[in-house]
Amino acid sequence: MFSVPGIALITGAGSGIGRATALAFARAGALGLHLADVNRGRLEETRKDVSAEAVNPQFKAYTSEADVSKEDQVVRMVQDAANNFGRIDYAANIAGISENAPASMADTSVATYDKINNINARGVFLCMREQLKVMRDQEALARIPGRPSVRGAIVNMSSIYGCVGSGKFTSYVTSKHAVVGLTKAAAISHSVDGIRVNAVCPGFVDTPMVDNVKGFFDLRALLETVPMKRFGMAEEIADVVVFLSSERASFVTGHSFVADGGTTIV
Ligand code: NAP
Repeated sequence: MFSVPGIALITGAGSGIGRATALAFARAGALGLHLADVNRGRLEETRKDVSAEAVNPQFKAYTSEADVSKEDQVVRMVQDAANNFGRIDYAANIAGISENAPASMADTSVATYDKINNINARGVFLCMREQLKVMRDQEALARIPGRPSVRGAIVNMSSIYGCVGSGKFTSYVTSKHAVVGLTKAAAISHSVDGIRVNAVCPGFVDTPMVDNVKGFFDLRALLETVPMKRFGMAEEIADVVVFLSSERASFVTGHSFVADGGTTIV
């Protein structure tokens, strides 16, 4: 297991991949977690569960109810995390939404386009901008002897739809390509500060988000497009986030890591 002994800020921590990532950080030795989501009740459940699972004896977890598309709420969330712990070593920007139903581009409303892009793309920009300011100003640490010291590592949640297109999810495809672009831009801007920035591009993962749209698909036909013939587990994506955050990935930046059971290689 990769060790992540510092402080992590995780958005979307109330459900699915974000919740699994919070648990993975706690089990991988994180000293503290700041958990954010729009859903206060589920956020509190995750906080209790990570506190029960944490292996670091000094572990602490705090929460922020925050909408990542709102600038003032993101600024407060990141400030609260920095005030609680004095630094932010890892940030996992996972909060996101998708269309409720497939539609062609001609049938996509501006309201849907704006809502999805505001949360998935603008939200990642706002979160990273605030996280980078904190990381840039904090002391660099070398946690693995012999490796260069680092100030921080950020992982953004894209999707296979950040790498390939789909004719049925215009807004989601656009937003997830934007996440890949934001990741590259931040990685180039802030390598000089000792900050790494990467993205993860999952295929179909069994979470409440996918449950919501399962009714629109022929599931057998969908799984036929996946060489592994199954949905991914949230825990499998969380492990990729933890690896990219850890100093075992010390020379990896600006990368989009595909974890999709082979879906995009065929
Ligand atoms: P999920 O189970 O629905 O979890 C997403 C969490 O983010 C929910 O708790 C959600 O709250 C929260 N959220 C929504 N809008 C928010 C906002 N404006 N500010 C803060 N939090 C917000 O979905 P998931 O499948 O774990 O997805 C997590 C991420 O992985 C998303 O970015 C998604 O695009 C990406 N992804 C998922 C899959 C997949 O197959 N599941 C594949 C590729 C990429 P509510 O439930 O109250 O909205």
